[in-house]
Parts: sequence; C-alpha cells; structure tokens
Amino acid sequence: MPRYDYRCRSCGDTFEISRPMAESAAPAACPAGHEDTVKLLSTVAVGGLSKSGPGPASAPSAGGGGGCCGGGCCG
Ligand SMILES: [Zn+2]
Repeated sequence: MPRYDYRCRSCGDTFEISRPMAESAAPAACPAGHEDTVKLLSTVAVGGLSKSGPGPASAPSAGGGGGCCGGGCCG
C-alpha cells in the first residue's frame, strides 16, 4: 500500500498516511485532528528539482596514442 505525505496547514505538521491509491485524493486529517491538510508530492516523483551529482564533464582521459607503441614495446 503506498504512503502519502501530507502537511497540515493549521499546525504545519507533516505526516504520512498509508492508504490505497483510490483514496489518495481523499482528505486526511493530521494527527492533531486538523482537517486543513494538503497532499505533498512524493519525493520520488518530483521532476526538475532533483540534484544530480557532478557530471563526467572533465573526466581525465588516458594519454598516449594507444597500441603497443605507448608501452615501449616498439622500440
Ligand atoms: Zn494539524
């Protein structure tokens, strides 16, 4: 059963509720009993906000021309 994050606009608390997807849009009361809550986006489904690590922009490349001439076996 998926879990959904909610935030209470009355007390500012955030809480999780496990409920079937069919009820994901149903109102959820916060643990303190307030009903003015909003459903938060799942952290996995957020697009455009995720920070990716440093890209392979400046990966050092192996020098040399390759082949056996780089190892000295050609003379
Ligand atoms: Zn509350």
